[in-house]
Amino acid sequence: MAKWGMVIDLEKCVGCQACTIACGMENSRLPGEHWQDVIFFQEGEYPNTEIKWFPRPCMHCENPSCVAVCPVRATYKAEDGQVLVDWNRCIGCKYCMIACPYGVRFYTEEKATYGGPNMKQVFKSEDAHSWNPPWKMPQEDWKHGVGVQPHDVVSKCTFCYHRVSKAPKGTADLDPQNPATREYTPACVVTCPTGARFFGDLSNPDSEVNKQIAYKNGVRLLDHLGNKPQVYYLTGEGGSVPATRSLKKI
Ligand code: SF4
Ligand code: SF4
Repeated sequence: MAKWGMVIDLEKCVGCQACTIACGMENSRLPGEHWQDVIFFQEGEYPNTEIKWFPRPCMHCENPSCVAVCPVRATYKAEDGQVLVDWNRCIGCKYCMIACPYGVRFYTEEKATYGGPNMKQVFKSEDAHSWNPPWKMPQEDWKHGVGVQPHDVVSKCTFCYHRVSKAPKGTADLDPQNPATREYTPACVVTCPTGARFFGDLSNPDSEVNKQIAYKNGVRLLDHLGNKPQVYYLTGEGGSVPATRSLKKI
């Protein structure tokens, strides 16, 4: 079994948000409900301040607090390490949203705050889906939280389960530069114009993700909380990972 993980090199990330757009298109997301977000924040005291940015997907934690609290086992860990939501089971109680320290979950019936019209009204759904987007991913798999989100459930990044789960068993790296693995690679990794993202098997010592983590001192966000994220950040000389939840967002 694989243990899929992601590495994001903060020295290479230029904050362009192509990953956010790619994720939205791939997963039929509502504007403003970004499964993969880039958070901009300010560090330091005036006048010595710096604007920084930070890409933040679901961490697909090894020890996920969202799974522990779900009363109906709708949130679960798949065999290859992804943390998923079964939309057939979810009762929309939002316990998982409170338990997740990374703020990466979305409840359907909340209005996405992005400053534009309510897209659920503009593209009304006639069936169980919460909206009828003008573009749609071809896949629909509610057991794995894939497709257009239905009413009254919680959703989040799936590590592009619909792509990654089709990769041949034993694959160490899902590299968009390799024609053999590109179609299985998460959309954000494929799209990143600077190659700041890597995706591979954390349980395989030969995988590129493990090499990057080892050679460049990969760190995890809010590691002291014990969730053991399967997303690692490379900070290098210049980058940094925010150490607290109280970021001053801008
Ligand atoms: S980041 Fe949050 S939603 Fe994702 S696995 Fe961890 S606790 Fe669950
Ligand atoms: S909102 Fe759904 S996934 Fe989250 S804890 Fe409640 S039932 Fe489980």
